[in-house]
Amino acid sequence: MSDAVRSVSVFSLTLPRDVPYLGAARLGEEPNARGYLVRKGNRTVYPTFDRSVLVKVVTRDGVVGWGETYGLVAPGAVGAIINDLLADFTVGRDPTQPSDIYDDLYDLMRVRGYSGGFYVDALAAIDIALWDIAGQIAGSPIAELLGGSTETRIPAYVSGLPKPTRAERAALAAEWAERGFSAFKFATPVADDGPAAELQSLRETLGKEARIAADMHWNQSADEAVRLIKEMEPHGLWFAEAPVRTEDIAALAQVCSESSVPIAVGEEWRTDWDMRHRVERCRIGIVQPEMGHKGITNFMRIGRLAAQHEIDVIPHATIGSGIFLAASLHASAALPTLKYHEFQHSIFEPNRRLLEGGMNCAEGFYSLPIENGLGVRPSDEALRLMQPI
Ligand code: MG
Repeated sequence: MSDAVRSVSVFSLTLPRDVPYLGAARLGEEPNARGYLVRKGNRTVYPTFDRSVLVKVVTRDGVVGWGETYGLVAPGAVGAIINDLLADFTVGRDPTQPSDIYDDLYDLMRVRGYSGGFYVDALAAIDIALWDIAGQIAGSPIAELLGGSTETRIPAYVSGLPKPTRAERAALAAEWAERGFSAFKFATPVADDGPAAELQSLRETLGKEARIAADMHWNQSADEAVRLIKEMEPHGLWFAEAPVRTEDIAALAQVCSESSVPIAVGEEWRTDWDMRHRVERCRIGIVQPEMGHKGITNFMRIGRLAAQHEIDVIPHATIGSGIFLAASLHASAALPTLKYHEFQHSIFEPNRRLLEGGMNCAEGFYSLPIENGLGVRPSDEALRLMQPI
């Protein structure tokens, strides 16, 4: 071992948004004192701002790696897990073996049932930072360490149309179509006139060639989901995402078998075990790993499992500074059944100033950072905004 981890530090990074994710708060969705609101359409809490947890790992030779995970609510939970437990078990380890470290840290709490949630989010952030270091030590971008190439142009679909009316959401999609994007996704919890009417408006605006998917936000029974999907189908549905509650594998199996459009799931999964349990029973069309929950180690395990089952991969992209998005692009470039990657323009565009290093999404494609490791790091502005946890 030529180098070893010297320190692990944790920060939260909070960024204001002009409009909350999924659009302005509706009647009955007023934010509380912490700035959290609950969407009536999916009963899920969202902050009115963007926030994530960043991890900085430094080696004895002075190599710095950055990782990121979710911090939408309770970022201190992830910070406490790292500060009280994971940091000490990472210090002294060989940073060129991130997957071994991931598995050892995961094993520490297995028998107590910590196989998901904030615990595995904390692992994901450390894992990304270690891969960043491993790439820098190897003199290689992470994509190449994983067998991919930074020259890969990854097709991007436009996600999130945070406008108050159906007509305005369609108009916003049309703006992105003019900018060279041909694939889109809308969220059914904020489709006020119903998913079929929403899809019809988007179809009429974007034309018959556009790919249009629906994110159903886990909010239906199996029968309801099947009915809504059938209502959308005549308007040309690309895929239906998260149709039923994540715990209900039987319901997912039913929707997969009774729907003729591909069913997409997996953003909330943490490990490949979450996929193994479902793929045995459900005819899943698309898996959507989210880097901020899985880290590169488990993202790749899920991606490779998808390839074994001939399932397409279309990774999720969420609310953060862009560090876990960069990691997601590197890993995606190495996946054999990758088809698209989600593009959250309302997060990516305003927050891109927070990262140094080349990463872009334009004219329908992502381009990867090309420097060694992740190829991105927090800008001076981001470093000023970061709060130690
Ligand atoms: Mg989703």
